[in-house]
Amino acid sequence: MDSDLGHRGQETLCEVCTTELDRVAEVGLLSDRELDLLQRPKQKLNINIPVRMDDGSIEVFPSFRIQYNTARGPTKGGIRFHPAVDADEVEELAFLMALKCAVANIPFGGAKGGIQVDPSRLSTGELERLSRAYIREYHQNIGPNTDIPAPDVNTDGQIMAWMRDEYEAIAGRQTPGVITGKPPLLDGSEGREFATSLGGAVVLNEFVRESNMGNHGLDVAIQGFGNVGSYLAKFLHERGYSVVALSNIEGAIYDASGIDVPALFESYEDGDDLFAYGAERITNAELLTLPVDILIPAAIEDQITSDNMEEIQADVVLEMANAPTTSRADAYLNEQGVPVIPDILANAGGVTASYFEWVQNTTNEYWTEEQVRKKLADQLQGAFANLRVIKTESDEERTWREAAYTRAVDSILDAEQLRGNLTRDAP
Ligand code: GLU
Repeated sequence: MDSDLGHRGQETLCEVCTTELDRVAEVGLLSDRELDLLQRPKQKLNINIPVRMDDGSIEVFPSFRIQYNTARGPTKGGIRFHPAVDADEVEELAFLMALKCAVANIPFGGAKGGIQVDPSRLSTGELERLSRAYIREYHQNIGPNTDIPAPDVNTDGQIMAWMRDEYEAIAGRQTPGVITGKPPLLDGSEGREFATSLGGAVVLNEFVRESNMGNHGLDVAIQGFGNVGSYLAKFLHERGYSVVALSNIEGAIYDASGIDVPALFESYEDGDDLFAYGAERITNAELLTLPVDILIPAAIEDQITSDNMEEIQADVVLEMANAPTTSRADAYLNEQGVPVIPDILANAGGVTASYFEWVQNTTNEYWTEEQVRKKLADQLQGAFANLRVIKTESDEERTWREAAYTRAVDSILDAEQLRGNLTRDAP
C-alpha cells in the first residue's frame, strides 16, 4: 500500500505539514523546542453531540474544535460538516489556519472545527438543530476575543446566522464578532461570500504578472464548483483567462476552446446542473491531468498524489482547496519545474475578509463592497510580495510553499518570543 496518503492515517500533523516544517528546521531556522511548539495544538476539543431528528429518534454526531496557536491573536477558522471529518483532519486544518493567518498578516491564531455528518441527508430543521447544538456545546470556548468560527466545507451564511443567534441566546447580548461569514443583513461583510475566490484571482494575477506568462487566454482547469470554484471561474473569466474545465462531485465538463462562464452561470441559476451546459463530459481524475496552463484544485484534500503526479500537464498549480497536494506530489511537481502556489497563500482571501468582518463588527462601522475588494487586494498583494522577498533573498532555491512556511513560522515564533514563551537564538 502506498504511504502517500496525505493526512489520513497520520497520528499527528499532515504529511505535507510535517515535511515542510522539517524542511524549515533543516535549513537551520528551527530549534527542537521551536519545532515542538509548532507541532502541538493549544487545545483540542471533541464532543459527541446528540440531536433530535425529525422522526423523534436521537442521533449522536462526533464533533471537534481544535485551537492551534494563540500567540498572534484569538484563534480563527471555519467549521466543516462532512462525513470524513475526524480529529486528525481538523488538527491539520487548524495548523494550516495558524500559518494562513500569519501569511495573510492578520492578527489571529488558527483553529478549525467540524462535525462528522453528511449534511445532504438532513432536513433544514435537523441542520439548524445540529448547528445550534454545536454552539451550545462549545460556547464557553469561543468568543470574539477567544476563538471565532466561520464557514468551511458544506457550511454557509445561514448556518453562521443560526450559530450567532444561539451564542447570543446563551450570552444574553448581541455579539456579532463571535462568528464570521454571516449574511450581510446580520452584520456580515460585503464581499465575504466571494472573498476566497477573489483572493485566489489576485494571487494568481500577481504570479502570472511576475512570471511574464501574460494572462490573456491562459487555459485553466478548476476542480470543484462550490462556493470557491464557481466564483473563481467567474473572476478568472472576467480577467481574460480561458476556463476550459470545471467539475462537481459527479464529474467534470471540458471545452478546450473555453467555457462560456456567464452563460453557464445563467443556466445554473435557472436550475440546470453543470452537465446541461453541453460540453464534453469527463471525470474528476481526467480534469486533473488535462493539458492546461493552470490547474486549480478547489474542492478537498489529497487530490494530487503519487498516483497521478506524473500525469499532471499543467505549468502551475494554484491550491484553492486546503491541502490538495500530498508532499510527495508537491516535491515531484517542483522538481519538474511546476510551481505549486500553496493553500496558505492562495486561499487566504476567505479568512482575510473574515478579519475585515470582525473589524467591522468590533467598530460598528460598515464598508462597501468596493472598499472590501480594494483592501483584500492590497492585503494579498502584500502577502505575495513578502514571500517573493523570502524567495529572492534565500541562498538556496525556495519553493512558494517553503517561503510561505518560513514567513508564517517566523511570525508565530517571534510572537511567542515576545510573550515570553520561547527563547529564540539570536540570528
Ligand atoms: N474556512 C476558510 C479557510 O479555510 C475561512 C476561515 C475563516 O474565515 O475564518 O480558510
